[in-house]
Amino acid sequence: MRLIPAPAGSGIVFRRSDLDNFEIPATGRNVARVSYATSLMRQGVLIQTTEHLLSALVGLGVDNVIVEIDNLEVPILDGSSLPYVSAILANGLKRQRRKREYIRILKPIEVQETSPQGDKFIGLYPGDGYSIHYSIDFPEPIGRDTFIGDLEAGAYADLIAPARTFGFQEDEAMLRNMGLIRGVSNDSAIIVTRSTPNQTGSVQNGPLRFPDEFVRHKVLDLIGDLALAGRRIWGRVVAERAGHAMHTALVQKLLRDRSAWELAHRFEFPAEAALSNSEAVLSPVLLHA
Ligand SMILES: [Zn+2]
Repeated sequence: MRLIPAPAGSGIVFRRSDLDNFEIPATGRNVARVSYATSLMRQGVLIQTTEHLLSALVGLGVDNVIVEIDNLEVPILDGSSLPYVSAILANGLKRQRRKREYIRILKPIEVQETSPQGDKFIGLYPGDGYSIHYSIDFPEPIGRDTFIGDLEAGAYADLIAPARTFGFQEDEAMLRNMGLIRGVSNDSAIIVTRSTPNQTGSVQNGPLRFPDEFVRHKVLDLIGDLALAGRRIWGRVVAERAGHAMHTALVQKLLRDRSAWELAHRFEFPAEAALSNSEAVLSPVLLHA
């Protein structure tokens, strides 16, 4: 996979170098089936597991980039977005002339789902910056946790990027059968065993990078999935027990409801304008799985 600089206004575009450079823009209209990972599809051409790379790009403020890839799955690497972040930061970013357009949320947009395992919820609300309030409730030993943060604070690389994906050992066979986690190993995910009446579940390949690494990874996923809105969000996100399907459903509801948002520049915030009102571009970065 290679990240290539793109002109202002191009957005994030995947390019399959193994299929005559077929391009799939990272937008809500190209979202394909979503369960344990987010995939994009256009005219039958697939890109799987886009969320961690998209999260790194949004987290670092990269607006325009071509992601050239010679296969259908974005490399999982260590299961976090830190390898992408490190490669991008080592390469550097530059500002482009055009002002960045934000999707400024004007009224609430919500998606909810009731299920036997409990209710799931996600909503977008007007607000300054890009703040995220995420709550999880998994079987033990992961349990309940909440993370609250603001992406505009610039702490993505330190607070979110290192958080790795995770899964229960008991689900591994099912995920493999679904064609997911092709390359997964102890080095690319946190593996957890479920608590049973006889035994307390535990992390199999610790130590964790943060005591609350699980919920931080959900925030990482959310940022990557909301990147499919096509522009940076200006608002507040609240998520409870959500996942890729809920995240992308919210993007699609957002894009359909044109009265709920406007495109806006952030000149109201002169303190942030020097950084936020420009687009960033990358020189080529090579990443290997
Ligand atoms: Zn993830």
